[in-house]
Amino acid sequence: MYQASADFVFTLVYMLLSACLVVPPSEFRSAGLTIQNLLSSWLGSEELHFVQYHIKRTTATIIFHTLIPLGYYIGFGLVCPEYNLFQPWKVSSIWLAYLITSVLVTIIALVIAYYWSRKHWSNHPVSATLGHHDHSWWAVCSNINIEFRRINKFSTGPPSCRVYVTDSWIIRTSAYSVCFAHKQDCHLNILQTVDHALSHESSTGVQILTIEVVSINRNIKPFQIRLNALDFRDLKDKVSMPIVNARNVVIQQTLTDRFLEAFRQQVDGNQRYALPDGAPRPEACIGCLQTPSNVKLVKLCDDPTQGECVQCYCRPMWCLECLCKWWVSRQQQDKPETWLGSRSPCPTCRSKFCLLDVCNIAT
Ligand SMILES: [Zn+2]
Ligand SMILES: [Zn+2]
Ligand SMILES: [Zn+2]
Repeated sequence: MYQASADFVFTLVYMLLSACLVVPPSEFRSAGLTIQNLLSSWLGSEELHFVQYHIKRTTATIIFHTLIPLGYYIGFGLVCPEYNLFQPWKVSSIWLAYLITSVLVTIIALVIAYYWSRKHWSNHPVSATLGHHDHSWWAVCSNINIEFRRINKFSTGPPSCRVYVTDSWIIRTSAYSVCFAHKQDCHLNILQTVDHALSHESSTGVQILTIEVVSINRNIKPFQIRLNALDFRDLKDKVSMPIVNARNVVIQQTLTDRFLEAFRQQVDGNQRYALPDGAPRPEACIGCLQTPSNVKLVKLCDDPTQGECVQCYCRPMWCLECLCKWWVSRQQQDKPETWLGSRSPCPTCRSKFCLLDVCNIAT
């Protein structure tokens, strides 16, 4: 009776442990029990050598996962010696078949890994994918590595399935593979959204968007990326190309995005500000460095000497969107209903202003 429960308990524990190693829950990750962590010295730095890191990581993951069945056999043999698993000629045909299969699977994985590693990993599927972008996969690889080191890349997604957008690449990593698409060659289609009432990482609802990346390069298979709808805007800014929404999927907006609409509506209703004659054209906004500065603070809500607001004498330095983000950052975050009616200091001179004092610059 005791032995019957020992093999059952071992099987259960082993299955649980393997599942946790294959799809590590956050507890396992924080304890460092992931392949990336255990093999970190061999894998090298993802930040410095992104492509080489993932070539090695996917190879190691495949080997490691194919070892799990064999590990079970060995572990079972140790825990329950009466099965004589270490004398294969004595075991039942089912165990023998299991043993042969798991050894074969491991050998195949090792042979494939060895083949991939030949000629500085140029046989690996990742190298092959990169080779479809340029005759030398090595050149593409170093280009990706360089771009990945820049801090302006966009990244999102759980650790097991990250999405990165660098200056010219869209990349998705997963356990066994890494997909690459050159931004110039591809277009993005929104496929669907899934709403999760609760996620394990936050207590508010989460909307997950699925986007398909299709490359005109016929050697690059289309792949899907998943991301939180709240990251969609950042993705859009980073890919800098239209994202097709043929199915008219409704995408959740962040609170700031929704507020921006109200902010813009209010400002559009305000008086416009005409630049004085001979004044230079406003330079790029100092917040985003992209949009030209297009708003000026003019105290219009009250007489110049009355009320809480103070006239600001700064030249136009901000765009409406950045000013709105600044505004939001100065508000009570848990009371969005008060945002429209309150005040904020000028980001440059700290003079207080209200929404009635924000003027579009007349062009
Ligand atoms: Zn701006
Ligand atoms: Zn000012
Ligand atoms: Zn005011």
